Amino acid sequence: MKNGLYGLLGEKLSHSMSPQIHSIIFEKLQKSGCYHIFEVKKADLKPAVKGLLALGARGVNVTIPYKQNVMESLDYISDEAAAIGAVNTIHFKDGAAMGYNTDYYGFKMMLDKFKVEIKGKSFAVLGSGGAAKSVVKCLEDFGAKRICMVSRNAKMAGAEFTDIEVIDYNELAGAEDMDTAINCTPCGMHPCTEESPLDEKSVQKFSCVVDLIYNPKTTMLMKQARAHGIKAVNGLYMLVGQAVKAQEIWNDVQISDGDVEDIYRRVDSMV
Ligand code: NAP
Repeated sequence: MKNGLYGLLGEKLSHSMSPQIHSIIFEKLQKSGCYHIFEVKKADLKPAVKGLLALGARGVNVTIPYKQNVMESLDYISDEAAAIGAVNTIHFKDGAAMGYNTDYYGFKMMLDKFKVEIKGKSFAVLGSGGAAKSVVKCLEDFGAKRICMVSRNAKMAGAEFTDIEVIDYNELAGAEDMDTAINCTPCGMHPCTEESPLDEKSVQKFSCVVDLIYNPKTTMLMKQARAHGIKAVNGLYMLVGQAVKAQEIWNDVQISDGDVEDIYRRVDSMV
């Protein structure tokens, strides 16, 4: 196929920025590719993966709510995706569908870019969904001292995340020696921009706040943090990072730090 076929598999995708991000990356790589939006129903997920493989697609991203379900349709699952239990990138290669988790890499790229240290630091991970799983795995792999998951229902989340400390938001209020909070909840995302997962007092426990949300660019949580002189970062670099890593897998290329910066600047100006 001359123009590689790529896309995004999910349920409701009308607000996705992925087609624009990937078109910027294709331009950078000087490659021609068509990145489509594929909205599929749950019952059609397996046939959709098989169909894309049969049509000679090069790769797709997978998003909510299929990052877990899609795993049963794959021929290979990378180590990081298996450990996280979720796939957000499929590479169709040599007649096989291979699954990866590039959210994991995008998250690490974001922390590196904004100089948020992991090694020896204590983290509160807010939320217990798919994104939190990639975040926890990355924090574990890169030497976090303490990872404390914060859930509205700590008992239920604790039954799933048995290897880490799981507390609720009341317990967080009494927690000590925290460094960084990572918001892995949708709380504060457009259109609920006045919401924050943390109250003013809890925010002040941290010296850094990372919000995986990128719409709006400055969330209520970030505003609360900055009002107290606390460093605050949004999730746009992670979004760009996961797309870059997916392209590196699909096209077997290495995208330089300078090019990632340039892609990020262009995406940032679009939001
Ligand atoms: P998800 O699977 O729906 O999980 C979100 C978790 O947040 C839930 O498990 C829940 O945990 C908690 N939560 C849900 N609604 C809440 C509310 N109203 N108040 C407080 N907590 C709430 O979502 P996800 O896929 O993990 O994504 C989470 C966020 O990360 C979304 O905003 C998504 O857009 C963002 N994200 C960004 C990137 C990026 O590239 N920047 C990548 C992936 C995800 P408890 O029930 O345990 O409290």
